[in-house]
Amino acid sequence: MLDLIIIGAGPAGITAAVYAARKKMDFLLISGDIGGQTNWSGEVQNYTGYQFISGPELAAKFEEHMRKFNIAVKEGESAKELKKAGNKVVLKTDKAEYEARTVIIASGKKSKELGVPGEKEFKNKGLTYCATCDGPLFAGKDVAVIGGGNSALDAAIQLIKIARQVSIININPALSADPVMQEQVRDRAAILNDSRVEAILGDQFVNGIKLRQGAEEKTIAVQGIFVEIGLVPNSEFTKDIDKNETGEIKVNCRNETNLAGVFAAGDVTDVPEKQIIIAAGEGSKAALSAFRYLARHKF
Ligand SMILES: Cc1cc2nc3c(=O)[nH]c(=O)nc-3n(C[C@H](O)[C@H](O)[C@H](O)COP(=O)(O)OP(=O)(O)OC[C@H]3O[C@@H](n4cnc5c(N)ncnc54)[C@H](O)[C@@H]3O)c2cc1C
Repeated sequence: MLDLIIIGAGPAGITAAVYAARKKMDFLLISGDIGGQTNWSGEVQNYTGYQFISGPELAAKFEEHMRKFNIAVKEGESAKELKKAGNKVVLKTDKAEYEARTVIIASGKKSKELGVPGEKEFKNKGLTYCATCDGPLFAGKDVAVIGGGNSALDAAIQLIKIARQVSIININPALSADPVMQEQVRDRAAILNDSRVEAILGDQFVNGIKLRQGAEEKTIAVQGIFVEIGLVPNSEFTKDIDKNETGEIKVNCRNETNLAGVFAAGDVTDVPEKQIIIAAGEGSKAALSAFRYLARHKF
């Protein structure tokens, strides 16, 4: 039985792993990928110590730091069910079953889907959820970003440098992204406020979007669509854990959940503000809490 399992290798999980390694805990890190959402961010300008660094570069720095320790990492593995059995935690993944005295859930968030006709059909055929990953495929093309918040504008700012024309399709009357980001897209992208996506159009690949703007229905021709309408927590494998109405895991200031020995950190939790530096800080706190829990309990 392990001391600890960390689920997720975004900023929260990687930082938890670094702290756990320094405490010489016997643990495993299980994650779909390494870096998490940091890989999707074009420009990071608010991680202390780096005035400017790209998201993938920062993710690589995190990984490099983590790999300095001899950490057992199960990459490409997905948590499916987490349960308490007596004083241990049992975790089933898509590949194996593990037991540990403590667990840190740092599984972050994933993109919300539009839920309109054509979305599933054209996923990865012109429709994507990651501008950093797929933006370069649309060089010289006309693209649309769906959304009006920080993630949408982060995508639009990246795409303005690559695509021929960028349209921002925002369901609300005005953009809600940080003013500094709004300034960067003003005059460089077509902003369609009050616009609801009705369907994704195409034949083999995306060729347009059907929109409703008030009473008016219109179609715009695009070859690429970037859906950036928000995120949902990756918490569906944690049925016995208390969550808020949006599915975020409820934690206290020591990152404890309602299950003894189960801690959570980062974007998957109800901690306000979802940022890299906050997730990293929460990851370190969760690891220290797990360490203290082990010291206090007999197994
Ligand atoms: C486009 C974009 C731009 C951003 N820009 C900035 C910025 O400039 N500055 C800033 O501070 N923040 C930014 N953010 C927010 C920041 O990236 C997140 O707050 C941060 O990454 C959260 O870290 P996390 O470790 O909690 O979760 P995540 O980064 O979401 O990582 C979660 C990890 O868990 C893994 N995982 C998920 N489900 C499972 C499962 N079932 N089993 C196993 N593993 C699983 C994933 O593979 C991933 O490795 C941005 C976010 C986006 C989307």
